[in-house]
Amino acid sequence: MGDWSAMPEDLETPRRPVPGELTFDSPRRGKPRRHLADLTMAQRREAITAIGLPAFRADQVSRHYFSRLGDDPAGWTDVPAGQREQVSDVLTPPLMTALRELTADGGTTRKTLWRLFDGALVESVLMRYPDRVTMCVSSQAGCGMNCPFCATGQAGLTRNLSTAEIVEQVVSGARSLARGDVPGGPGRVSNVVFMGMGEPMANYRSMVAALHRLTERSPAGLGMSARGITVSTVGLVPRMRQLASEGLPVTLALSLHAPDDELRDTLVPVNTRWNVSEVLDAAWEYAATTHRRVSIEYALIKDINDQGWRADLLAKRLRRKLVHVNLIPLNPTPGSMWTASRPADEREFVRRLQAGGIAVTVRDTRGREIDGACGQLAAVGSLSRPLDAE
Ligand code: SF4
Repeated sequence: MGDWSAMPEDLETPRRPVPGELTFDSPRRGKPRRHLADLTMAQRREAITAIGLPAFRADQVSRHYFSRLGDDPAGWTDVPAGQREQVSDVLTPPLMTALRELTADGGTTRKTLWRLFDGALVESVLMRYPDRVTMCVSSQAGCGMNCPFCATGQAGLTRNLSTAEIVEQVVSGARSLARGDVPGGPGRVSNVVFMGMGEPMANYRSMVAALHRLTERSPAGLGMSARGITVSTVGLVPRMRQLASEGLPVTLALSLHAPDDELRDTLVPVNTRWNVSEVLDAAWEYAATTHRRVSIEYALIKDINDQGWRADLLAKRLRRKLVHVNLIPLNPTPGSMWTASRPADEREFVRRLQAGGIAVTVRDTRGREIDGACGQLAAVGSLSRPLDAE
């Protein structure tokens, strides 16, 4: 782990948005250095031949990065010792520094706080279950979607992440698992959820390139199954349609949080651009094109969106669709008026959805102790709240 005392002093904090304000474009900032995870195989070979080395070095280094998960050029024994630093400088420049790691659930949930080259902070969370390992990754530093119950949204958008900055979060988790750093023995990342900081569809190009890197076979990528990957969105309809046309059968998770426009306009401000009917239509198109069941995310918030009539309305809107509802007990953020529903209200909400014929689960609240659950990845805030720190 990096030096915990080295808090970023040069961090530019974005302006806090006013209620309802949406930020779609990433503020202009410098770009991180190009990394092999930003590039296709052909582009990596070009980058290597441009420095006068044989193209196959790109394949070797890609294999070290994605298959052997080796991040130390000294261990690349198939590359001549005199070329390792040069090749590493072109294809695997350092992208992020782990500032600290917090653990919970006996070490099987681990949140890492990363500092990027420009001082921006993002977090990723590894969650190990008996049958799978899920990495929750950030796609932006901060978020421009301004959902009022979400700590990340309240802090505004710092910038989009590059493809490699997204992929490196997963590869880093894969490295920890392969090295046996996570209780349960060596393992592999089986699932990736884009549910950390940011709205993935607002960083569309980098997000889709990251999907390619995660699913391409070695040496091009990590070789994961697209079926193990979930992209969440608050409902950027044109991008949802575009994703359906990419031929990548990832799961789409739509953060709905309210079945009626009146409430959703407040809870999810992007609803003022694309309303409930429009986002649901785009979700059904996604399901029809990819044959993947859409996941509807619904954070249950006490006395705000957890009334029985809203459960009935939600069931009505989802009836006979390829859909599954994931209810999320809201993770209270410090000083926030938003809090989780009463258990009895939660049970009644579930009952009404099921009575309406809707498949529903209540999300495991893993990571709650370390603020790693959805809507709680606000790096700056969590710096002052070390719990169970290693
Ligand atoms: S809930 Fe998601 S989309 Fe909304 S502000 Fe938070 S991170 Fe952004």
